[in-house]
Amino acid sequence: LPVSPLLSVRNLAVAYGRIRALHGIDLDVEPGRIVSLVGSNGAGKSTTLMAVSGILPLAVGSITFAGEDITKLAPEARVGRGIAHVPERRRVFGGMSVRENLVLGAYSRADATDMEADIAELTQLFPILGKRMSQAAGTLSGGEQQMLAIARGLMSRPSLLIMDEPTMGLAPQMIDLILDTVQAIRARGTTILLVEQNAVEAMRLSDHVYVMRLGRIVHQDSGSNIDPDRVKAFYMGVE
Ligand code: ATP
Repeated sequence: LPVSPLLSVRNLAVAYGRIRALHGIDLDVEPGRIVSLVGSNGAGKSTTLMAVSGILPLAVGSITFAGEDITKLAPEARVGRGIAHVPERRRVFGGMSVRENLVLGAYSRADATDMEADIAELTQLFPILGKRMSQAAGTLSGGEQQMLAIARGLMSRPSLLIMDEPTMGLAPQMIDLILDTVQAIRARGTTILLVEQNAVEAMRLSDHVYVMRLGRIVHQDSGSNIDPDRVKAFYMGVE
């Protein structure tokens, strides 16, 4: 039986002033899946994610989430519906402690009584953060800051976690750790929409992959079927 998607994007167009960055994107994310967007710089991956979380307004198109039209909802309202966005470049509040950053991630929740339990659970997923709770976030390593940014996103108890290049600028060992964590998050029941510069890793990890180029989706396939050589050809526009 076909599963109805958690997220559906239809005919999405976004413009920066007079410049169109996206030209009619259609994509679906089914519940419990890891779905990746890959493509070269400027393909429109980050723009797509920001339109889904409401940071950027749509010029055209619609977004349905958990069966409801969220096209016109403000970003905070989308967080309340279960969409969390971990932005590019791991923006944590450097002067605040790890714990304070996590507490901020729960701002959308009316009832904060389970907050300590959630923080304790997240330290199982991110043991390093457990040891650094009262340390200023700005003093963490790049990989640790990325973990904190992800953990902060999870504090809103999202059903969809959007991650924009979580491995950017990290050492190989840390990249492996972050990608393992992405799978662990999915195993806890959270659906994931991921932008990953490291396309080969993204393909290995994902149930479904969309390839973007110049503001369009030019190819898609299941993670197991997708052919890295064809993806490369689509990246470069030779197919
Ligand atoms: P990258 O990996 O480099 O972030 P991307 O695939 O995420 O690439 P976007 O950042 O979404 O691509 O950019 C899509 C297009 O929109 C590009 O042509 C880019 O130059 C343009 N763009 C992005 N941000 C802005 C902005 N703030 N003002 C004007 N144009 C922008």
